[in-house]
Amino acid sequence: MTALPVLVLGGGIGGLASALALAGKGCRVRLFEQGSELKEIGAGIQLGPNVYHMFEMLGLTEAIERWSAHPGNLIMMDALTGEEVTRLPVGGAAFRQRFRGYLYGVIHRGDLYQVLLEACRAERSVELHEKRKGLRFEDRGDRVVLHLEGGEAIEGACLIGCDGLWSKVRAQILGDGTPRVSGHIAYRAVLPRTEVPDDLWQNNVVLWAGPKTHLVHYPLRRGELYNLVAVFHSDRYEEGWDVFGDTEELERRFAHERPEVRRLLERINVWKMWVLCDREPARHWSKGRATLLGDAAHPTLQYLAQGANMAIEDAVVLAAYAEITGFDWERTFKLYEDARYKRTARVQIMSRYYGDAYHAAGVVRELRNDILAPRPGAAPDFEGMAWLYNGITLPQANR
Ligand SMILES: Cc1cc2nc3c(=O)[nH]c(=O)nc-3n(C[C@H](O)[C@H](O)[C@H](O)COP(=O)(O)OP(=O)(O)OC[C@H]3O[C@@H](n4cnc5c(N)ncnc54)[C@H](O)[C@@H]3O)c2cc1C
Repeated sequence: MTALPVLVLGGGIGGLASALALAGKGCRVRLFEQGSELKEIGAGIQLGPNVYHMFEMLGLTEAIERWSAHPGNLIMMDALTGEEVTRLPVGGAAFRQRFRGYLYGVIHRGDLYQVLLEACRAERSVELHEKRKGLRFEDRGDRVVLHLEGGEAIEGACLIGCDGLWSKVRAQILGDGTPRVSGHIAYRAVLPRTEVPDDLWQNNVVLWAGPKTHLVHYPLRRGELYNLVAVFHSDRYEEGWDVFGDTEELERRFAHERPEVRRLLERINVWKMWVLCDREPARHWSKGRATLLGDAAHPTLQYLAQGANMAIEDAVVLAAYAEITGFDWERTFKLYEDARYKRTARVQIMSRYYGDAYHAAGVVRELRNDILAPRPGAAPDFEGMAWLYNGITLPQANR
């Protein structure tokens, strides 16, 4: 191990997971976050069984179980007719048995963030710095130098760019321009349990699929809150997120959909808006002593609900290779991206297809419903999601 610390730029879910995973391998880590306080905004996060395996590797199972809940089913409803299209029972024994003993989960982003933050704070080898914005880095062969706004230059053994969709580290490593604007907008809000009509409350992740729209809802914080995400196609290309949404626009977009959908949307006065972006998958995202992780490396649309899950998988895999290579960072980063690019690319590409299926109209919508309709008497089929929910096999050092 080297005396210089590992530098992590960005204190989102990916950055904190990286700091924690590397500290667990004995590394000293310095993390720099531009925000004025380390916190996560937004609402719910879905957790696949694949990420529960990672929580176990990070020693977080108990803390996550304290805050996450396990929905009974993932259900797709047709938002025009109100018919159930399909369901996957993700909360039962058969699912658990199929996926290494793990269930599907949901958690408030703030709670997931807090669990990671507290775990990092408990590590003496992790230093967390707020209000520190990274501008660029230099690779000097035997070390990196990270230049921060205000003129500070920080030396490290290597740099992990966890600085999200608009990553500055990516601009330097890949220089592949701005992300792709998908033309889809997400509005997110959280309702207190008391605001949700009883007939619309259920312990499932429900997706109402309508032409060029969908609405997702599920309970959070052990049923105290109801998470809503409404997505529609729009040419409002304003970059950004965490901007207030326009309730009238939302009403217009969902005007022809089922009363259940409109009744839920009506309950919300304040929405936060996200312009959804992704990128084409990249084969390489490391150069010398610098690499990317999470959305900086493989930003995806959220239709498989796996962006944060992938960032956490990245972190655990990267740390495993760091240990195997004896902290040879160039080798580590090469092995890490080799291990991750196809799986994360598949999430990026499949998320687009899922978005198309959710938003289908006309004959395509009818075909979707026919294709996804369950076969009478058939057992639940988990195999379609096995490539994702089976999770990953972690690398082992040769003995
Ligand atoms: C509507 C929606 C729903 C979603 N639902 C799910 C879901 O259910 N499940 C799931 O797994 N994923 C979901 N995702 C995706 C998930 O939110 C992201 O993939 C995940 O947050 C990425 O984490 P990250 O740490 O890589 O990036 P980010 O969360 O973007 O964090 C990047 C951090 O870097 C900081 N930063 C940026 N630039 C600099 C700089 N120059 N200097 C210092 N700091 C910097 C930022 O302030 C930020 O804190 C969803 C996304 C959306 C939009």
